[in-house]
Amino acid sequence: MSSSVVIQTSFLGDTILTTPLLAQLARRGAVDVVTTPAAASVLTGHPAVRSVIVYDKRGAHSGLFGLTTLAARLRAATYDAAYLAQGSLRSAALAFLARVPERVGFATSHGHWLYTTKVAYRDDLHHAARLLMLSRPNGREPTPEEIRPSLAPGSAEREVVDDLLRRAGVAAGEPLIALAPGSVWGTKRWPYYPELARMLSDAGRIVVVGGSDDTALAAEIRTAVPDAVDATGALPLLGSAELIRRCAVIVTNDSSPLHLASAVGTPTVAIFGPTVPNFGFGPLAPSNVVVGNDSLTCRPCHRHGPRRCPLTHFRCMRDLTAEVLAERARTLILTSDARA
Ligand code: SF4
Repeated sequence: MSSSVVIQTSFLGDTILTTPLLAQLARRGAVDVVTTPAAASVLTGHPAVRSVIVYDKRGAHSGLFGLTTLAARLRAATYDAAYLAQGSLRSAALAFLARVPERVGFATSHGHWLYTTKVAYRDDLHHAARLLMLSRPNGREPTPEEIRPSLAPGSAEREVVDDLLRRAGVAAGEPLIALAPGSVWGTKRWPYYPELARMLSDAGRIVVVGGSDDTALAAEIRTAVPDAVDATGALPLLGSAELIRRCAVIVTNDSSPLHLASAVGTPTVAIFGPTVPNFGFGPLAPSNVVVGNDSLTCRPCHRHGPRRCPLTHFRCMRDLTAEVLAERARTLILTSDARA
């Protein structure tokens, strides 16, 4: 059996979309993952992962000393192969300094000249599929089932979610509707979540999910719907996954909760403003719908979403009404129920 290390130090969503690659590699042998302090906990208990190695590039592992210290730790593990799921020169240098004999990454990456195998970066594939192709450079394209991400919330996560819902007065069996109003990028935040919450509040208990940066957005929703549950900043990442897993539907921007929902199979309404799913980061839950303003010629205008709309009208988001989003969410709840 071989052993491999996957280096993924991008955003949380990228780490979640790396799990199909991890599952493929685990068939060949032990798999360790190098990832950021922020994303490490999401892989806890994942059946494809032997161990998670935190790369704190802005803290304990900053600078050349930090890099070489971590490289020495990886070298001691004598991996057969390293998969560079994130293309920085620093990640490539880490694998090189760790003397991993086979180093596989994308041909377009900054660190490509340190790789032993270069894989085409396929713009036409979902990012989960692109990453999975690192494990089979000249092989067939993966099936939709193969690229569905996965996470493994366990009993600890079930307990914290039970506790949060109990303290919020949610009755056992009460249907839950998740709203994820946040995003690191301002123009990826759809502005009408409070209105949407009001419209959907008769279909289930509204639950607002997100990080501690999203508490102000949750407060706006609770002003519109006072019995909405504010889970922003209240749960660890896998706890958020467990909470989303219990929801009948999630309405989310193009941000991390979309990928958490894909990993736990929650029906997903995904709102895309300045970005588009063709970038490779669309929803992968079995039941999903994408909402975006396809009539705008300015769209997409940015890989991640600009800080402000350069045309100032922000129609990619403002044209998407709460009525349309509510109708999509209700349809997904009904069709998912019918399938269950
Ligand atoms: S330029 Fe167009 S796509 Fe970009 S933020 Fe403005 S409205 Fe949205």
